[in-house]
Amino acid sequence: MSAKYNFCAGPAMLPQAVMQKAQKELIDWNGLGVSVMEISHRSKEFIALTTQAEKTLRELMNIPANYHVLFMHGGGRAQFTNVVTNFLGDNGRALYLTSGQWSSSAIKEAKRIAGEDSIDEINIVETVEGLHQVKLPDLHSVDGDYRYVHYCANETVDGIEIFDTIESPWPVVADLSSTIMSHEIDVSKFGLIYAGAQKNIGPSGLSIVIVRDDMLNLPSLVQSSIMDYTITKDNDSMFNTPPTFAWYLAAEVFEWLKSVGGVGAMEKLNSDKANLLYQCIDELPFYKNGVAVQNRSRMNVTFQLVDNNLDEQFLAEAQAAGLVALKGHRIVGGMRASIYNAMPLAGVQKLVEFMQAFANKHSK
Ligand SMILES: *Cc1c(COP(=O)(O)O)cnc(C)c1O
Repeated sequence: MSAKYNFCAGPAMLPQAVMQKAQKELIDWNGLGVSVMEISHRSKEFIALTTQAEKTLRELMNIPANYHVLFMHGGGRAQFTNVVTNFLGDNGRALYLTSGQWSSSAIKEAKRIAGEDSIDEINIVETVEGLHQVKLPDLHSVDGDYRYVHYCANETVDGIEIFDTIESPWPVVADLSSTIMSHEIDVSKFGLIYAGAQKNIGPSGLSIVIVRDDMLNLPSLVQSSIMDYTITKDNDSMFNTPPTFAWYLAAEVFEWLKSVGGVGAMEKLNSDKANLLYQCIDELPFYKNGVAVQNRSRMNVTFQLVDNNLDEQFLAEAQAAGLVALKGHRIVGGMRASIYNAMPLAGVQKLVEFMQAFANKHSK
């Protein structure tokens, strides 16, 4: 098999070193003679794994002691529901900032559960000279009594990322599904952070939640116990059987990230990767990107061919060159190169070389 670079937006590629280790350990984990999938989640071996996973994650993200780390079911979207059911009991209201597809989906779900009238919305993307850019409102001057303000830090579909910290009089709840651990953040600025695992952490289905202590035990709506943050915390994320194999792989990804220098080193690499690709898009009149420089995603680089009649050919030739899954999201079209933590610089270099050659060949 020749080398392939997988630019899929999610489930995304995992670090090769992690996959190789998992393959080696698949049927005999930790000298037990059985797979990690086949042992009790309450065994001392598995508990050691979860303890280590949390410890490493806390180190990587510099998570303060008054925050709890939860490993939950249901990926990103489960938290669209959970933040509403956990925080909007006794007629609470919430404010949602919209910046693209995922934040819009989160609002839709919040309204479905809490009712239209309980959810307020501010669109924070404007178009200036044809480019989308984020304009954060001054939340301190917004009139309202909200249990939380929700936003999505990286719009995976639209390629729009918010690097600024949101200053707010209400707890900030953030969807970090596609940007978690790609650059350093100050966790203490958030009431709750959540992320579906399948972009920067591990396999799909797992959801990581980092929640501040004072956000637990709030008046909540009736909900399933496995989706209750307080019950989940009180049971060490094991109220029911957790997704053990996904947890194991996430733990391996955390160790890998630590071994390559942690989030700071990753931030530098991610910035180099993204810069290389955007530079190629900007230099060649053959390609374009519609996001203002300060909000260009470092994880999901969206771009269009100026002549979109060549889209199919671009994708076919890229595929033949070992560059797979570059097709943009069905809603926005064009191309999207997802270059999460696991994508090596060499993959982006190869993509840039391909894009230059393709443009050369097809420019009149
Ligand atoms: C992928 C993604 C989700 C959805 O995750 P699921 O696990 O499919 O529910 C939510 N938010 C963002 C920003 C994402 O990138």
